[in-house]
Amino acid sequence: MTSKTAIQKKTGMYENVMAEFNKAADTIQLNPGVRKILATTQNEIVVHFPARLDDGSIEVFTGYRVQHNNALGPYKGGLRYHPTLDIDSARALATWMTWKTALAGLPYGGGKGGIEIDPKAYSQSELERITRRFTYALGDNIGPDYDIPAPDVGTNSQIMAWIADTFSSNKAPSQRFSNYHVVTGKPVVSGGLEGRDRATGFGVVVTIKKWAKLKDINLIGKKYIVQGFGNVGYWASHFMAKTGAILIGVQDHTGTIYNENGINPEELTEYNQQNQGIDGFPSADKFSDEDFFGIDCDILIPAALGNQINMENVNSIKATLIAEGANGPTQSDAEQILIDKGITIIPDILCNSGGVIGSYFEWLQNRRSEIWKIGDVLVKLEDKVETSFDKVISVMEEYDTDMRTAAYVVALKRLEQTYIERGVFP
Ligand code: GLU
Repeated sequence: MTSKTAIQKKTGMYENVMAEFNKAADTIQLNPGVRKILATTQNEIVVHFPARLDDGSIEVFTGYRVQHNNALGPYKGGLRYHPTLDIDSARALATWMTWKTALAGLPYGGGKGGIEIDPKAYSQSELERITRRFTYALGDNIGPDYDIPAPDVGTNSQIMAWIADTFSSNKAPSQRFSNYHVVTGKPVVSGGLEGRDRATGFGVVVTIKKWAKLKDINLIGKKYIVQGFGNVGYWASHFMAKTGAILIGVQDHTGTIYNENGINPEELTEYNQQNQGIDGFPSADKFSDEDFFGIDCDILIPAALGNQINMENVNSIKATLIAEGANGPTQSDAEQILIDKGITIIPDILCNSGGVIGSYFEWLQNRRSEIWKIGDVLVKLEDKVETSFDKVISVMEEYDTDMRTAAYVVALKRLEQTYIERGVFP
């Protein structure tokens, strides 16, 4: 049967995360037993489930939830709805979550999953039925104290609301609201956190400002480009605009645009929402897709999919800073070339950690039946991201290594310590 889901595979994400892990594990001579544990995922759930489409036909979908590690707390991480989602990428993304939550000092482990689907090819009512049936298929493999999904590429607060509702509807009526924090990134009225929408992009800019301060660089007038103009790309641009930096190029799945005098992020997001893409934005020129990474700029913010910076385009990059809003945007081979050229990469597990930190605040808010104010959320978020950044810089100096390896070292030491303290049962 033909499916609306376009298959367009990209492999190698798990190889990437393991190359990064092995480099950091060698750097600190990670305990060999702990190394074996962390080199493996704990659970990999694959579900095939049916859903009815608007025309009455039935389609069968494939969903994943990979639980990499829960030594530090419940599995935590997003659900991705994308045609490229497969077991390899779910494994890689789950593993990155373990490092990200450990680095941020959160009481969480790492997980990731989603559905191999192009959500743009389905109506809202189809997406609702698909999401609810996926949640039902996952059953008690997720839970507010066990595994807590959140938005990722192709999912949003509406999808989280359907998951929370479906999951809690399957519990006893008295347990309904004590199960709502099975997901974070919910709409604000349905238990979501004010500011969770912008948390990832805000955190990206906190790390860029910390880097600028460290290097004594003034961001006013600095030129930057953004790949991906979804939640992360837009909010990062929104907060970059406040620093005085100028957005000169943007790329998304519909095309690439350029304006050396600056692109207004607010006008672009409005256009993007109306047109489901940035292509044709009137206040910028169309630009060649292949030459996007070669745009002459100071800062590059990849905020789309994995492995975008690779051996084919790495040598064209002009930016001196790459701030990884996306997960795994830089392929390991290409990374070494960037490091050799003296280009700084603020690694994903630090750079985009604002999202999961915001999720942690939402989870706390739900557990305590509290309502937090956005001003307080952003202050707490900034503080947490800055603390992680400082830790990474001090480890970078201590081990004379690159920023990604330093970020891994902070995360791996925390995980190593907990395994050594607790031992391995029995
Ligand atoms: N999907 C986001 C990430 O990759 C957020 C995960 C979460 O909030 O649990 O970090």
